[in-house]
Amino acid sequence: MERDSKGLAIVIRTTPIREQDRLLTLFSPSMGIIEAVSYGARKSIRGVKAPLYTEGTFSLEKGRRGMTLKDIDAISTHSAVLEDLDKSQSAMLFSDLVLTGRSAEPELYALFTSALDALEDEGFEKVTVEFIVHFLALEGLSGDYEACPVCGRPYSEGEILGFSSSEGVPVCHDCDTMDGALLLPPNARAYLRRSLELSFGDSLSLVVSEEQEHRIFRYLLRTLPFSFPGKLRSLEYGIWKI
Ligand SMILES: [Zn+2]
Repeated sequence: MERDSKGLAIVIRTTPIREQDRLLTLFSPSMGIIEAVSYGARKSIRGVKAPLYTEGTFSLEKGRRGMTLKDIDAISTHSAVLEDLDKSQSAMLFSDLVLTGRSAEPELYALFTSALDALEDEGFEKVTVEFIVHFLALEGLSGDYEACPVCGRPYSEGEILGFSSSEGVPVCHDCDTMDGALLLPPNARAYLRRSLELSFGDSLSLVVSEEQEHRIFRYLLRTLPFSFPGKLRSLEYGIWKI
């Protein structure tokens, strides 16, 4: 096995270890999800700064105690994300989904980094909605907005959908297991269906009122624990009241 590795990656989590050092969790399209130690302000070792959400070409050295960060050729630090509480919370949720989902396909890397880029300029609710829609699609956990996945009946145009807690997806009124606690109105359903047809980048240009966007945002956050089979600490202990 090669002693050193070099490749495109993004810092997806950082954990302080010892006084000046940090354990970085990197998401890389070629290396997968890996950990590397970033040595801090020590006299003998040149410190390389790698703040959370820094994307670039990472040079890593394999030692007896694991990988060590040697150098970064940074593409973006996504600093605007860290400066805003809601954007930080969005990015934390995206990282949580990637780390809990444990897949590291290049398509997911593209989605993750595009979403962080988008967070810098776009509203956090819109980016979060589109990230969740496209993430669930990549993981094969997407809902069906044309027909009920339980009974197979096609939805009528004005139909309000219920939700199946066991299937983790929207369903018709007859298959609802939540007593109408998670309803999806027709216009929100149309928005989600259209989002799924578009790429992540294109879906950001869908026009929707702020109020409607907020409703869809809340709907996806409330249904996510049913749709995604993993514990999401970022939502449980996060700042959003949903
Ligand atoms: Zn049904």
